Amino acid sequence: MSTWTNWSGNQSCRPARVATPVGVDEVAQVMTDAARDGMRVKPIGAGHSFTAIGLTDGVQVSLDAHSGLVAVDRASGRVRVRSGTRLFDLNALLDAQGLAMANLGDIDRQSVAGALSTGTHGTGATLPGLAGLVEALEIVTPDGRVRRCDREQDPDLFHAARVGLGALGIVTEVTLACVPAFRIEAREEPAVLGAVLTDLDEHVDAHDHFEMFWFPHTDRVLTKHNRRLAPGDTSGSALPRWRYLLDDQLLANGLFELSCRLASRVPVTTLPINAVASRALSARTYTDRSHRVFASPRTVRFTESEYAVPRAALPDVLRELDRFLERSGERVAFPVEIRFAAPDDAWLSTGYERANAYVAVHHYRTVDPRRYFTGFEQIVAAHDGRPHWGKMHTLGVERLRELYPRLPDVLRLRDELDPDRLLGNDYLTQVLGA
Ligand SMILES: Cc1cc2nc3c(=O)[nH]c(=O)nc-3n(C[C@H](O)[C@H](O)[C@H](O)COP(=O)(O)OP(=O)(O)OC[C@H]3O[C@@H](n4cnc5c(N)ncnc54)[C@H](O)[C@@H]3O)c2cc1C
Repeated sequence: MSTWTNWSGNQSCRPARVATPVGVDEVAQVMTDAARDGMRVKPIGAGHSFTAIGLTDGVQVSLDAHSGLVAVDRASGRVRVRSGTRLFDLNALLDAQGLAMANLGDIDRQSVAGALSTGTHGTGATLPGLAGLVEALEIVTPDGRVRRCDREQDPDLFHAARVGLGALGIVTEVTLACVPAFRIEAREEPAVLGAVLTDLDEHVDAHDHFEMFWFPHTDRVLTKHNRRLAPGDTSGSALPRWRYLLDDQLLANGLFELSCRLASRVPVTTLPINAVASRALSARTYTDRSHRVFASPRTVRFTESEYAVPRAALPDVLRELDRFLERSGERVAFPVEIRFAAPDDAWLSTGYERANAYVAVHHYRTVDPRRYFTGFEQIVAAHDGRPHWGKMHTLGVERLRELYPRLPDVLRLRDELDPDRLLGNDYLTQVLGA
């Protein structure tokens, strides 16, 4: 038995055994063997969740080897992909076919099924999270059966399992609605928070992908306005290599790591560091393949909590967060990330029938995040905040019932599919009940 640790280093477990099945039959066999041996089962992707969602003391099922494209229909953009495929591999495979994901989050390390299962999203007011780009799933349920579902066939399973928290079965294949490959013109520039909030609708609605990073203890933000070019438009040029190394590797990762270390040891340095950092990143514009613009390298390890709130609540949430930081004396070196997404219809998606703003708070990995994250949770609670399933939160099933109107349907399905809680763990007990 060896110890498994997630990316952040804040969650670990000792699975009794690790299985690495390839193909749906082997996945089904893992499930039936575990049931026979009285062991619990937990599929795992890239371990990039901050919550205890992926922990198990039973059989850890890595889908790493169950990877690659199954079929591509270039005309419709429908692509069948094995569930363990990492997003960076998927992006390269799609690119070679002249296709791309319509939207992505800000890293590409996750597996397809891992990213979907927690409701991973990017930014863009007219684009839903990844679950909204799924057309069909193949899933091995705890009884070892293989089921295919989409909007017509087994629609309840489809609506529940797209953001399924790993609670309903092991997803083995995903059919994605992809788009013709496209490039993005990215414009990044510093701005003043109050001014951006005054014109928020203009920023969010007049741009394909808008996001911003607010430097706590300052009124400064770094804004990102991304414009999608028409497929085939090859205008614009990528960042020069030196600029990429300076901004993305040195400032955003190397120096940032050092300043986080300093701020965590000597918290009074946080304010001056943030004041300098918020001005160090200068404006830049570049154009590149969509997936290269969406994803950035992240080498500084941190813990994170993220909540979706109705878009109109965003200014209040940020003002209250600012007041909390002032009042509590909490010192935060990490920018607060703010994004937007369109509604979707996956039952456990943060975007279920609601257009959201996403507010993500972070602390350096060695800093105890409890005071900050608790203060943040209290603020978003008053705005019907829905937690990202893969990022730290303390909500339990009773509160989640109020936030997710279809949660009772998911619980009914879970009772049907997994009465013995073969896929259970402590996190699922917290959010779905025993
Ligand atoms: C640096 C960093 C940046 C991030 N950026 C973003 C972002 O931009 N947007 C965003 O929304 N989130 C973001 N996240 C969160 C991340 O996308 C999610 O936590 C995601 O679930 C991680 O994918 P994974 O492959 O690591 O899944 P894991 O953490 O390994 O697993 C997550 C869940 O998926 C389940 N699972 C895995 N494979 C299967 C399967 N085959 N069938 C059924 N269930 C399965 C697991 O059991 C577990 O419940 C970020 C995380 C990090 C560390």
